Amino acid sequence: MNLNELTIKQAQEGLQKGKFSSVEITQACLKKIKERNKVINAFLTVCEESALEEAKIADGLIKEGSASPLTGIPFAVKDAICTAGVRSTGSAKILDNYIPPFDATVISKIRKQGGVLIGKNNCDAFGHGASNENSMYGPVRNPRDTSKVAGGSSGGSAAAVADNMCIYSIAEDTGGSIRQPASFCGVVGLRPSYGRNSRHGIMPMGSSLDTVGPMTKTVEDMAIVMREIAGNDPLDATTVPDAVPDYLDGIEEKIKGMKIGIPKEYYDLEGLDDEVKEITEKQIDKLKKLGCEVEEVSLPHTKYSIAVYYIIVPSEDSSNLGRLDGIRYGARANGKDLYDLYAQSRAQGFPEEVKRRILIGTYALSAGYYDAYYKKAQTVRTLIKNDFDDVFKKVDALITPTSPFPAFGIGEKQNDPLAMYMADVMVSPAAVAGMPAISIPVGNNSKGLPVGAQITGPRLKEKIILKIANNLK
Ligand code: GLN
Repeated sequence: MNLNELTIKQAQEGLQKGKFSSVEITQACLKKIKERNKVINAFLTVCEESALEEAKIADGLIKEGSASPLTGIPFAVKDAICTAGVRSTGSAKILDNYIPPFDATVISKIRKQGGVLIGKNNCDAFGHGASNENSMYGPVRNPRDTSKVAGGSSGGSAAAVADNMCIYSIAEDTGGSIRQPASFCGVVGLRPSYGRNSRHGIMPMGSSLDTVGPMTKTVEDMAIVMREIAGNDPLDATTVPDAVPDYLDGIEEKIKGMKIGIPKEYYDLEGLDDEVKEITEKQIDKLKKLGCEVEEVSLPHTKYSIAVYYIIVPSEDSSNLGRLDGIRYGARANGKDLYDLYAQSRAQGFPEEVKRRILIGTYALSAGYYDAYYKKAQTVRTLIKNDFDDVFKKVDALITPTSPFPAFGIGEKQNDPLAMYMADVMVSPAAVAGMPAISIPVGNNSKGLPVGAQITGPRLKEKIILKIANNLK
């Protein structure tokens, strides 16, 4: 096995036993990036020199016996997450030369342990998209079939892990951006509960939905990373004070007697691919064999999730992106007067989808439309959340497909924003409600494309969904 193919668990063990060094794992990942990134386009920045230096320091820590769980393990970070001293563009030209002076809290937690930052991952600009085609640096190709998208918005993060260009990655999920690309590329992706992990240093999109989570090769690795990055942060007032449980502890335990809900609205969905449905149903059979009680449940407001999401997120987007104007932040274009300077900076610095969101959001928040759109969406959001709260009185978790279909072709939906929005139909409800949800690879369709199953749990019950996911591996 090549060292870049290791899981975190295997890397930890090998490093501890001195079977290989962090420098060697880092070199193996860098080699893979060199071979494949030309085609896959998963990395916008590769930290070749600094990664090798960090790996050397990590090897020193390991030798002197002061290693932490993520010491010496190469990881990649979505480019919409700030990394000190390393270019962070959000995949938009307006931040083409932005080098943050600070690390996002989750990243600083990993770097303090001696984690090796190998590079920054391509994504849809500022997280807007479901295919990674809204990046201003070109799309990411799916390592399984390069004519297909890697999913989005964290397509680069998913492809980098799937193609073994790094051991794990850190990405962001506002409305599916971790789970959907994880399912398209065949890796594990967790959207934690809103408030579980700090958002400080994440380029904000829909601030009331944004979450940060890992993408890994196994569920066990997911538990390892979550244990290290979760927790309250004085720099993010929306993080919860609840203690971080040991996500690894008990992950191997049986799940006999657990109650799993099958939400009928997800399975009745028009456009749900037959093979995806079949593969997910096999997992339901497996849960039954493992001794779970499986019952059909209903979340009646599911059908409004996309509409609610695409009012609230653009509204928050339009406010968050206001700072990128070429004056306060961002590359400045020439203009004949101040207004023209703003207009040109934004025209050149943002892709179409970002402009679309700003326009929709500004409209939805404007006087006269606020009550009709934004306020209405917030009201329905509560109904969606109540559906989850009610259903979790009866069951421990829900199982559904992550995406109604496997990875689609590059260019297939690019000119149809509505079709692209509909790709989020399975992932947006948990996001709108703030619930944790994990996508795990559960098989391939007849064309060899990965299919993911999504397990959603009650707020702050990541431990439950990790345990169920681990039993399905
Ligand atoms: N497809 C969603 C969107 O375009 C995903 C966003 C996200 O999770 N960052 O808004």
